[in-house]
Amino acid sequence: MKLTHLYATELADLVTPIRPVLPADTRLRMVNSELASQLCLPETWWQDNNLATAMQDEDFALCRQAVAQKYGGHQFGHWNPMLGDGRGLLLAEVEDSQGQHIDLHLKGAGTTPYSRQGDGRAVLRSTLREYIGSEALHHLGIPSSRALALFTSADTVYREQPETAAMMIRTAPSHIRFGHFEYYYHSQQPEQLKQLFDHVFIHHFPEVLKSDNPHLALLRTIVLRTARMIALWQVYGFVHGVMNTDNMSIHGITFDYGPYAFMDSFVSNAVFNHTDQQGRYAFDQQPGVGLWNLNALAHAFSDYCTTSQLRETLSLYEPTFIQQYQQMMVRRLGLDEPTERSLAVLNQLTGMLADQQRDYTVIFRQLALTDISTANPALRDQFIDRVAFDKWWESYRSLRMDGGETEEQQKLMCNINPAVIARTHHLQQVIEAAREDNFEPAHSLLSALRSPFSQKWDDSRWAGAPVNNSPVSLSCSS
Ligand code: AMP
Ligand code: MG
Ligand code: MG
Repeated sequence: MKLTHLYATELADLVTPIRPVLPADTRLRMVNSELASQLCLPETWWQDNNLATAMQDEDFALCRQAVAQKYGGHQFGHWNPMLGDGRGLLLAEVEDSQGQHIDLHLKGAGTTPYSRQGDGRAVLRSTLREYIGSEALHHLGIPSSRALALFTSADTVYREQPETAAMMIRTAPSHIRFGHFEYYYHSQQPEQLKQLFDHVFIHHFPEVLKSDNPHLALLRTIVLRTARMIALWQVYGFVHGVMNTDNMSIHGITFDYGPYAFMDSFVSNAVFNHTDQQGRYAFDQQPGVGLWNLNALAHAFSDYCTTSQLRETLSLYEPTFIQQYQQMMVRRLGLDEPTERSLAVLNQLTGMLADQQRDYTVIFRQLALTDISTANPALRDQFIDRVAFDKWWESYRSLRMDGGETEEQQKLMCNINPAVIARTHHLQQVIEAAREDNFEPAHSLLSALRSPFSQKWDDSRWAGAPVNNSPVSLSCSS
């Protein structure tokens, strides 16, 4: 295993060195062994609370060059230059088995110059939600930062009420956000902006250096990746909740989990973040916000590209999004290609789900498990308006039959329609148990989410919709 500090050393002007201050009695509680071994991290880190102890040690390699990164961001549409790692630290980068550098980022390690009014801490509730949520997305095939380790502590921190302090280490190809570029552009620091571009080209997107205009090629890559990521959010009913540009990764991975949720019943304008009164980041707004955010990012490229080049590149977003979304959704239906007929059947189904407030994940899963030759499937009982269902089933079934239905088709459907997702009420159960020192539910839910398409979870405690479908509202204070 090799630790590097490329960002901290190459971009010394863009960071502040910080020594992590761990909360009292920091205890390692969860480790992602699969990821740890992929990164070739020493097993001794996870023994006897070694890592937590070592992080207190002045000489420990990870701490010597830990840094807080400076960035800005558009928050709910408004530019804020005052942001940065307020409670997170880049500990180091680790070179993985493929020679890629992966950031080890510690969240909840005390204040930094960018903490503003904050205490630099994270709470057990939000840390567990991020840990489990990011793993859930990863295993659904949605690009995401990943969770490596979770620690609890004896400290109490105050949010809306007293809460247990916690920390996590997350990994990502980098923690560079749209807001990094925006900050050095809007604060008129062209030299720093150039350094940032060069670092990103060399270490993260070397293929763009072959292009005539690497800046434009970089923007293109970010546009395409962001479009694909958000298409997958829409496919699986994921609502990020705070799509500010400081929470958008240049790698097109899901990043900075806050008041996120997977929808239970299908509500196209679902909002779970209770501070989002206007519904700016509602489920059905996410695709448009993705483009808005890319547009904000594109401004930072304007010294290197013409306006028409930027516009042309941004125009790739919509068709990429639509192509990915439609392709995935018709596959969820067991159909091959988005055609007028298959898209009509899709729209009718999501329309029924919305009208009848049916559970998005359950219905698609049950559909995947339904024998298409059945004229009268059990799935019918899930719907209130049976007449509407019968009509839909007839046209859907004939479309499947026309496509030459095979057993393979049904298997493919199961492999794209999950039995389990990270549902808010399950996360709540996990959090309540963890507060009582019981991490068994956390481990159990995680193990289901790591193979979300497996039939072994269909009748498990983690499958199925919540019994009382009361509206969920999540706090942004994490
Ligand atoms: P977030 O809403 O978590 O994306 O955070 C927005 C900004 O506030 C970032 O600059 C964070 O580093 C900072 N921040 C959030 N929570 C805290 C906290 N408890 N202490 C210090 N800074 C924080
Ligand atoms: Mg890096
Ligand atoms: Mg953030």
